[in-house]
Amino acid sequence: MTVTRFAPSPTGYLHVGNLRTALFNFLIARKSGGTFILRLDDTDPERSKQAYVDAIKEDLEWLGLGWDRVERQSERLDRYAEAADRMRADGRLYECFETPSELDLKRKKQLNMGRPPVYDRSALKLSEAEKAALREDRAPHWRFKLDHERIEWVDGILGEVSIDAASVSDPVLIRGDGQVLYTLASVVDDTEMGITHVVRGSDHVTNTATQIQIIGALGGTAPDFAHHSLLTGPQGEALSKRLGTLSLRDLRAQGVEPMALLSLLARIGSADPVELRGSVDDLVEGFDISRFSAAPTKFDVNDLFPLTARYLASLPYAAVADRIAVLGVPEEIAPRFWEVTRENITVLDDLGGWWALYRDGAAPDIAEEDRDFVAQAMGLLPDPPYTDATWSEWTAAVKDATGRKGKGLFMPLRKALTGRAHGPDMSKVMPLLQKVRAKD
Ligand code: GLU
Repeated sequence: MTVTRFAPSPTGYLHVGNLRTALFNFLIARKSGGTFILRLDDTDPERSKQAYVDAIKEDLEWLGLGWDRVERQSERLDRYAEAADRMRADGRLYECFETPSELDLKRKKQLNMGRPPVYDRSALKLSEAEKAALREDRAPHWRFKLDHERIEWVDGILGEVSIDAASVSDPVLIRGDGQVLYTLASVVDDTEMGITHVVRGSDHVTNTATQIQIIGALGGTAPDFAHHSLLTGPQGEALSKRLGTLSLRDLRAQGVEPMALLSLLARIGSADPVELRGSVDDLVEGFDISRFSAAPTKFDVNDLFPLTARYLASLPYAAVADRIAVLGVPEEIAPRFWEVTRENITVLDDLGGWWALYRDGAAPDIAEEDRDFVAQAMGLLPDPPYTDATWSEWTAAVKDATGRKGKGLFMPLRKALTGRAHGPDMSKVMPLLQKVRAKD
């Protein structure tokens, strides 16, 4: 059975980059009727906040990406301690005493000599007496001893990957203050929770190499890995600095609809075109991780708005009835208000402007050369309420009286009544219009 997980650290809000990871793991699980776990990587007690846990859940719920189970790493510390003990007993976890500045100095020296900044394992050369003396002075941190061989896997997106373990530093799994680091916690969880597929960003490729060895050391079986490319801005610029403004809650506040966001992210960077889907279940169809490219994927926030508009235009009245009621639209005209207006909004909040226009009338937009014409036309227009026939009857009468026709007839009247050059069919607007300010 397929088991996937989305494993955010609750140290900030989710953004579009995280969402890509969440969505892929969600779709893989749902496609095969498997389990999708929300795993909170909260082993860092200082940076992890309950408020972010709540926000992550709220954002995923907003999107409709439901999880089957929540796991919190902070509640599993005994499992990590047990795994660490086993690796210590097997000689795979070793004590190190270098301070951050000592390590930094080592790295600089290596770089100066043109060597890769890989940890030199000098802690392995310490005698028991030296270690005992160092322990008096500082708490050790613990590194996993990599086997120096090639680590290989077939990646669901990158294809065959081969990394020389000797080119990677032995990863620190436990800090001097005892805090278990992500690499260890993640491996223990993936193994014990029976995770079958791990999809994450390509910034994790080196982690994956070391994790494969750690999984082996713990007697587990490595899941299938796939590393998706990172998102860039429309010009290929790094998104990392802008991710703060691309948080899911910001996008929500801007009126982006979940299905627009999900439909875009389920396809960009793949060989398949973006298709607007109506529900999360529909997204599963046609989703195939192997269709995604390893190349950086361009993401343009502006693409979300046309998709949002199309999504909204497709909605039946029942789906938005509550939102329309909030605007104060009387129930008897609310369905018609939606039918008439839904193709003329980008985000749902635009409805407010249209309703104000229908209710209060619009400030007329009248070109100088149309003043007399509009004044004459207004004389022929009765007071509201109007019917479906009002527009055709009125414009026929105005045509007879003025001799104008076509655009020269209709456009000045539309602008006089709605203050806008574009909008819904005027014959449908008229019955909603409760005031005509151009008649004042
Ligand atoms: N907490 C890690 C992150 O957000 C999880 C990475 C993973 O999926 O293993 O980067």
